[in-house]
Amino acid sequence: MSKVIIKECKDYNLDNLIEKINQGIGRLGGWDLFVKPGDKVLLKVNLIGPKSSDSGAVTHCEFVRALTRILKQRGCEVWIGDSSGGALAGVAPTVQSFRASGIEKVANEEGALIKNFDKEGVVEVLPNGKFKDKMYLAKPIYDADLVINLPKFKTHMMGVYTGAIKNVFGCIPGLRKAKYHKIAVTPRSFGEILADIHECGRFHLHIMDGIQAMQGEGPTAGSVYQANKILISKDPLALDVVAIKMLGLDIKQVPILAASKQRKIGEGDLEKIEIEGDYQSIPRLKRFGLPVFHWGRLRNFAMLIPFIEFMRSKPKVNLKKCKKCNVCVESCPVEAIDKDTKKINYKECIECLCCHELCMYKAIDLKRFIVVDLVFKSCRTIYRLVTTKLLNSINILS
Ligand code: SF4
Ligand code: SF4
Repeated sequence: MSKVIIKECKDYNLDNLIEKINQGIGRLGGWDLFVKPGDKVLLKVNLIGPKSSDSGAVTHCEFVRALTRILKQRGCEVWIGDSSGGALAGVAPTVQSFRASGIEKVANEEGALIKNFDKEGVVEVLPNGKFKDKMYLAKPIYDADLVINLPKFKTHMMGVYTGAIKNVFGCIPGLRKAKYHKIAVTPRSFGEILADIHECGRFHLHIMDGIQAMQGEGPTAGSVYQANKILISKDPLALDVVAIKMLGLDIKQVPILAASKQRKIGEGDLEKIEIEGDYQSIPRLKRFGLPVFHWGRLRNFAMLIPFIEFMRSKPKVNLKKCKKCNVCVESCPVEAIDKDTKKINYKECIECLCCHELCMYKAIDLKRFIVVDLVFKSCRTIYRLVTTKLLNSINILS
C-alpha cells in the first residue's frame, strides 16, 4: 500500500514550511529513515524556464530554502539541480532559471550547491521500455546519496497535468529533451519516456509544492491558484494520482501517467493508496481551471515538432576564439569532439551542451539551423531599416 501525505500550508513562510514538511516526513517514519549526517542530498527542482517563484511555474525558492535548511541542520550537504526546457528556445536557459526563480540566491544564502545539469556530465542508461534506446541522465542523480524530487503542482496544456512523474524530465540535460518530444509525440508515448527515467534514475522521495499551483494553460502560461497543499510520498505515481483526483480527474484522463502505471513505477490505483496528514480523504480543489483542451483527442506534441525543428541549434567550436584547452573534448560524455580539429561529430552528439557550458573562452557557439538564421537576419535587417527611416523622418521634421 502506498502512502501519500497531504499537508495544508497557506503560504511560503519559512517556519510554517519547515513545520509542515517535518510533520509530513514524520508520517513516513521521520527523516532518520532517509538521511544521516554527511549525506549528499540532491533536491531536483522544477525550473522549466527563467520564471519568478511567484509565477507558479517553478518550485518556489522558499520551498527549496525550507528543505535546504532542514537537511543542513541534519548535517547533510545539499545540492539543488535541474536542466531547464531549453529546447524550445534554441538554447538552454538553466543558468537564468536558477537566477530568475531566486533559487540561486537561496543556495548562496543557505550554503547549498547549484548543480546545473547542463554541465555536470551524464550517465548512460538503457531503459526497458517501448523505445529501447540509450538514454543519458544527469550524473548528480547517481552521485547523491539521496534524491528528493520537488515537483510543482501544475496543469499542462498538452499532458493535462504535470507533477512528480513528469518533473524528472529535467534530468535529461540540454537540448536532448527535444529529441524525446519528437519521438514520443502523444502524451501516452511521452509517458513511456518518463517511465524510462524513473526506472533508470534514483528518486527516493517526492515532495510537491502545491501551495501556489498553476491552473489553466500550464506549464508556464497559466495563472496561480492558491491550493495551499504540500504532498509527500515515496511513490511518485501515487502522489500524482492523488493530485489529479483533487482536480476531479481520473488516471485514464491523464495519459502521461499510463506507462508508469503499466510498468509499476508506482501505485496507480486510488483504492490502494493511503491518505494521511491533515486529510483522511482527498480534498477537491474547487473552481480549479483545467487547460482548454484537457478533453481533446487531438492533444499531442506533434504540433510542436515544426517549432522544435525551427528553433533547433547545435554547438560549434569557434576556432578564432578557441584556446585549445581541451576542456570540451574531455567533458563531452560521448567523445563527439575531435581533439585536433575540434570538429563535432553530430551523429554522436547528444546535444547536452556540456561543452557550451564549460568552455571558459566562450568559444562554443550555438549555431541555429540555416532557415532560422535567415529568418533572424531578415528580422534584424527589417528592424534596422524601419528604425533608420524613422530616425531620418524625425530628423527631417525637427
Ligand atoms: S573548451 Fe573552449 S577553448 Fe577549450 S578547446 Fe574547447 S572550444 Fe577550445
Ligand atoms: S559535443 Fe559533446 S558535450 Fe557538446 S553538446 Fe554534443 S554531446 Fe554534449
